[in-house]
Amino acid sequence: MEKKRLLLVDDDQVARELIEEFMQYDCDCISTQNGVEGFSYLERNPGQIDLIVMDLIMSVMDGFELIRRAQEHPLNKNIPILVIASSDRQEDIRKAFMLGADDVILKPLEADIVKKRVNNMFDIADSRGIHNVMEDLVRIEIEENIESLGICPCPLCRRDLMTLALNNVPPKYVNTEKGAIMSKVGSMSSTERIKLLAEIARYAEMVRDYPRHAPVQSDIAQ
Ligand SMILES: [Zn+2]
Repeated sequence: MEKKRLLLVDDDQVARELIEEFMQYDCDCISTQNGVEGFSYLERNPGQIDLIVMDLIMSVMDGFELIRRAQEHPLNKNIPILVIASSDRQEDIRKAFMLGADDVILKPLEADIVKKRVNNMFDIADSRGIHNVMEDLVRIEIEENIESLGICPCPLCRRDLMTLALNNVPPKYVNTEKGAIMSKVGSMSSTERIKLLAEIARYAEMVRDYPRHAPVQSDIAQ
């Protein structure tokens, strides 16, 4: 089985080296020194990371911002997130969980605990298992074709189009075992893509004609 890939984001060099050492036989560690570096790695390698381990307090994009942004890319939004925090920072930990973190490792970092927590997270990632890849496909088609679809690009109109399309195209389930989503996106035949895009274009007309962001007077009158 291929080695799991852990993205480590921490501006504390000692903590980074400790975690790399603890995990050296269990997974591949990609080390980055702040939120910007970590986020940039995720953007350049969508769907390639199995777990993010991050510090919360960093000077260049903190962990809270990184948790939010890490989930932006459809291929990254299911990556489990483990945060590193001090036990006296309950408020930070609560906030991290609210934003979407999955678990916390408390400082000081101890080998046995870190290994156990990280490996538990890898198991959770595996058990998230089945995933409706159609969500990713539809989102990608909308993003790539937003201009030719002729709808207003505001978040509400995009979301309406996404919802309409997903309610009407059959779901396509795949196992999220690493790379499966990527290969599925890549392997969609051009005929399938054209059919999907035609469906999306049909619903785009509805969103374009009846946008909810700012109803025009004639819509209200009817
Ligand atoms: Zn709009």
